[in-house]
This record gives sequence, structure tokens and C-alpha cells, in this order.
Amino acid sequence: MHKLSTELAKAGYTSFAVENLHIQNMEKNHRLAQSIHNASWNRFINFLSYKAESAGMKVIKVDARNTTKECSNCGNMLEMPLSVREYNCGLCGLRLDRDVNASINILNRAREGHSRSHAQGEDVRPQREAALGELITYPANAGEANYL
Ligand SMILES: [Zn+2]
Repeated sequence: MHKLSTELAKAGYTSFAVENLHIQNMEKNHRLAQSIHNASWNRFINFLSYKAESAGMKVIKVDARNTTKECSNCGNMLEMPLSVREYNCGLCGLRLDRDVNASINILNRAREGHSRSHAQGEDVRPQREAALGELITYPANAGEANYL
């Protein structure tokens, strides 16, 4: 975790947008709790925060609710069980990897002060495309064996 957070803090980003996860709420779901415990998400975010912030970068924590369920293009909501790997929006036709869709939602919330909830069907395509251009995701399992 130290190695990865140092690497990210030195990678040339200007800020980070992360989900503010509430571990206790998620313990009801055994598999999620397991993966969260394994990743020690909050501990990692603390490492990243102090390294990034001491280097003058912002770490923005956003509300994690529905980042996976919400369509990053139109705001539609879909149930997304863990087995469903692709977000496939029936309203606007968006098809994206579920984690990329969630990442765009996290980035959008960070940029908007995570308060906005746009109406279904509203055209947010320019925002989504801007977010995609800006988005640099770090694969969730990258370097797991090396870092965790
Ligand atoms: Zn949609």
C-alpha cells in the first residue's frame, strides 16, 4: 500500500477522486466485506491522502452510493449485481465496463462537489466525454501481488 500510494502520488496527477466507503454498511454483504478488508481501502486512501496532500494535490472523497448503478451518460439507474461486468443502459444505449462507468461517476461527483443528481434523460454527453478524456483509471487488481 505504501509503494502504490507513493507511486500514484508521484505519477503526475493533479488530484484524485475516490469513493468514500462506509465499511460497516457493507459488512452485511460478505463478499464485498471480504474484498474491502483484503484491499484495506480506507487505510490505502489515508496513505494516498497524506502523500498527495503533502505534495499539494487534492484527494476528493465522494459519496459512494450508486456509483455502480448510475448511468454515467444519462443518470438512469440499473441493478448491477457483481456478476454483471458491463453497464448496459436501456435508456441511452451506453455500454461500458462497470468499473469505468463507476469511475466516471466518481470523477463527475468530485468535479461537481458531489451534490448534483441530474434528472434522468438529461443530456450530459459533453460532460461524460470530458470526464472520459480526463479519466485515468488504475485497474483494481493492478499490482495486487506486489503491493498488498
Ligand atoms: Zn444511460
